[in-house]
Amino acid sequence: MIHIDASQGEGGGQVLRTSLALSMVTGQPVLLDKIRARRPKPGLMRQHLTCVTAAQAISGAQVDGATLGSQTLQFTPGPVRGGEHRFSIGTAGSVMLVLQTVWPALLLADAPTRLTLQGGTHNPMAPSFHFIERAYAPLVRRLGAASALRLRRCGFYPGGGGEIEAELHPAGAAGLQPFDLIERGAWLGQQPECLIPGLKRSIAERELEVLHEQLGWAFDHTAIPVMRQNEGPGNALLATLRHEHVTEVFCSLGEKTRSAESVAKDVARQVKHYLGSTAALGTYLADQWVLPLALAVWRSGRAARYTCTDVSLHAATNFSVIGQFLPVRIDTRPLPKGQGVQVEVAPTGDNAP
Ligand code: AMP
Repeated sequence: MIHIDASQGEGGGQVLRTSLALSMVTGQPVLLDKIRARRPKPGLMRQHLTCVTAAQAISGAQVDGATLGSQTLQFTPGPVRGGEHRFSIGTAGSVMLVLQTVWPALLLADAPTRLTLQGGTHNPMAPSFHFIERAYAPLVRRLGAASALRLRRCGFYPGGGGEIEAELHPAGAAGLQPFDLIERGAWLGQQPECLIPGLKRSIAERELEVLHEQLGWAFDHTAIPVMRQNEGPGNALLATLRHEHVTEVFCSLGEKTRSAESVAKDVARQVKHYLGSTAALGTYLADQWVLPLALAVWRSGRAARYTCTDVSLHAATNFSVIGQFLPVRIDTRPLPKGQGVQVEVAPTGDNAP
């Protein structure tokens, strides 16, 4: 039984999700305590419970402590099974975080999986659907596991009601193969977009105008890239930056009390931060990519590296939790100014998969 102090480091839901994922992957039971202990509403919230339920369903786990507000959870997984699964959060909680909880284990499952997830698709403090589809999933594919993601309906706070479908294949015959991601490669272009289901088109125009202005991009008023669905209301402004080896997606969400200018400036700030460095991955992708990469390093016995603009507390916490489950060592090395940080994930050689 692995014992995880879930208040360590950043102390948020990620400690829980990474622990569930790696418990299933390694078959080791886990006992978590002090779950989200320092958050204003401590313990498991609805969206965390859906992560636990989803993990339980795919691995036939025995679970103790899975109740709202619980700060302790014991999770004993069985073998991970692919197949058809449907999970609904019941609130606007992020479905993308549920997906990230189960995906690592499904990379090593006995069969492909078709997941339908209902809840929020564009949430504060969580990866958006577009981030997972365009930035995260292509990297996982490069490790050797195919996938296809579809956005059926957007879901925003507070209404939720979004739906995504994910077809997730286990790693092919060659297994998961880690790779280095040091450089972005050639610049392929930017794609600014605005989602505004149920809201006035003028909001999108204003957000896109300010975003272009802030970043010095040429703005064509006659071709406004607005993605509109029937659902909502909700608003997400996205900037997708494509390079040869990596795509990054930056997102900010509109709220009733927030101006279009503030949404646009937030995305512009994130884009400038990324473009101010030559590192391959941005802040968020850096803390998320380490988990599938560490799995591939463990399974293959080969080290791999990546560069990122910075190592956030989320990333440092994830490194530490991963090190408690897998026989890998994660080292960081600051690079010269403007080049970010290099992260190396290497097998410790302590035990074979
Ligand atoms: P936690 O706060 O512990 O629940 O973890 C939040 C997770 O969401 C982390 O993996 C963050 O990298 C990720 N995240 C937060 N905001 C964004 C964003 N704007 N784009 C992509 N990922 C994000």
